[in-house]
Amino acid sequence: MAKEKVLGIDLGTTNSVVAVVMGDEPVVIQNQEGSRLTPSVVSWTKEKEILVGDPAKRRAILDPENTIYESKRFIGKKFDEVREEARRVSYKVVADDKGDAAFDVPNAGKVVRPEEVGAHVLRKLKEAAEAYLGEKVTKAVITVPAYFNERQRQATKDAGKIAGLEVLRILNEPTAAALAYGLDKKSDVRILVYDFGGGTFDVSILEGGEGVIEVKATSGDTHLGGANIDERIMEWLIEEFKKETGIDLRQDKTALQRLKEAAEQAKKELSFKLETEINLPFITVDPNTNQPLHLQKKLTRARLEEMIKDLIDRTMEIVQKALEDAKLKPEDIDDIVLVGGSTRIPLVQQRIKEFFGKEPHKGVNPDEVVAVGAAIQAGVLSGDVKEILLVDVTPLSLGVETYGGVMTVLIPRNTPIPYRKCEIFTTAADYQTEVEIHVLQGERPLAKDNKSLGKFYLTGIPPAPRGVPKIEVCFDIDADGILHVTAKDLGTGKEQSIKVQPSSGLTQEEIERIIKEAEAHAEEDKKKKELIETRNQLDQLVYNLEKTLKENRDKLPQDLVTETEKVIEEAKKTMQEAQEVERLRSMMDKVLQTSSKIGSHIYQGAGKKAGDENKKEGGDDVVDARPVD
Ligand code: AMP
Repeated sequence: MAKEKVLGIDLGTTNSVVAVVMGDEPVVIQNQEGSRLTPSVVSWTKEKEILVGDPAKRRAILDPENTIYESKRFIGKKFDEVREEARRVSYKVVADDKGDAAFDVPNAGKVVRPEEVGAHVLRKLKEAAEAYLGEKVTKAVITVPAYFNERQRQATKDAGKIAGLEVLRILNEPTAAALAYGLDKKSDVRILVYDFGGGTFDVSILEGGEGVIEVKATSGDTHLGGANIDERIMEWLIEEFKKETGIDLRQDKTALQRLKEAAEQAKKELSFKLETEINLPFITVDPNTNQPLHLQKKLTRARLEEMIKDLIDRTMEIVQKALEDAKLKPEDIDDIVLVGGSTRIPLVQQRIKEFFGKEPHKGVNPDEVVAVGAAIQAGVLSGDVKEILLVDVTPLSLGVETYGGVMTVLIPRNTPIPYRKCEIFTTAADYQTEVEIHVLQGERPLAKDNKSLGKFYLTGIPPAPRGVPKIEVCFDIDADGILHVTAKDLGTGKEQSIKVQPSSGLTQEEIERIIKEAEAHAEEDKKKKELIETRNQLDQLVYNLEKTLKENRDKLPQDLVTETEKVIEEAKKTMQEAQEVERLRSMMDKVLQTSSKIGSHIYQGAGKKAGDENKKEGGDDVVDARPVD
């Protein structure tokens, strides 16, 4: 019996595509209307008929409340997370009984979940594939953005299940694009995937060679896409119409939908022509004369480019950011792979060429490249294509809280996973028998500004002076993105661990916000961190001085003992009060001088300076500021 085919599906925000490997080649399958792109739109008619794809998109004009588009923005999210997003769409977004984002569709007579909307699109694609293949299909690989968290991935799987598809693999979109490009077959090639779709912009840098694809960095903007360009054109049309007639079309929902379609159409035409005409007969009625009014406007490519220049600039800033994250320069990129319909815009291609000094890669259709990659992965799973290993990255840095409330990073953001990193830490206080391991995620230097992923204690450490115990903390992030944190007392071999899901509940917006916040606070954070670190150094010096005094008290003259006690007291007070690094530093000098004096007395000029001992060893970080009783 022939092997069952596995579909590769790009379930997109704006459009979806299905492909399958036939023989050796991935083939994009036409839908029931003969189109290779299926708009990810579902519409419910009064008669409770459910329309999917182009027929649904056409109804968006007539029936905005019953027509759901861009449902991908809501999948796997809580209603509270999408309040802002909900204001941007013309249908009603509500919280379902679990507090998840869902749609109140009057004609459906019920609240519809985003998974159900996704399922309608998937079912249409599945049926198209079955008609093409002449056999039933039950399995698929579906792509999602690299930043989708566990809930969003699970919800996408559920959408497949509702549509009667077992989802064998959820594949990241940039990885799919890289597969379609053939990155796995090249050796030592680095590509940048520039994905400019209908509603989102994503950049990924990937490296490939000998059957492996590694994502090196990702960046993006979840609200930058072709729709923004359409809006610019619409705004221009509305303003021009207002100038001519005094009528503001913004008040008229139906007119707005027609304008939106016309704007998109004009934009697409201007990718191939230098000039186009926008024609919207009977756009509205003159309230004074009751005569119908028509909208007719010429738009040139040059004018459009002027309108959208800043949007394209923004995409290039994000490209720059991804390169910086990967510590690469434009010339380090071997090829630029274009994904998404908006990359057809000549200005986009021109800017990419200027930036990289070379033409972007042409070869795979930008609308279809992700589905083609999904089909290749599907082919791997069905046994049609040789196995490929895929690697992804951590979206944010991971680390532990250390002495003074600082975050010490073990795994920096954009590290390819799976990944393992161990570091040795020590105790903060004498005879401390427990340490707290506080696992953090984020980009800020201070622990309190980052997200807490979990805490645990390692107990039973044999009592020893501070700084003596050696505690090995290991971060092990597996291929599914699950983080295993282990703390081991190297003295006794005692071990404790926890398992956390770092990406859980984090949306791309949150990731972007966290990175932006870290950038905005960089200067003040640096100062705060320096203050804590200097305080820690002073603390170590005072600790050593106290110890030296205790051990040598009887060998020292009384006036030096008194002076040392005074300095210790003053230093402790300074540690509590000082908010300036300078004050802490001058106190450090004073402590060091006192240490030197004691040293001179003890060794009576034997050449060894006690002060040297007091310098902080470059060794272990102190893992736990608060000794636990
Ligand atoms: P995608 O999300 O990849 O399906 O991309 C859809 C977006 O690409 C929509 O905003 C389309 O208007 C846009 N698009 C499609 N074809 C073109 C074109 N020829 N020129 C400019 N934009 C296009």
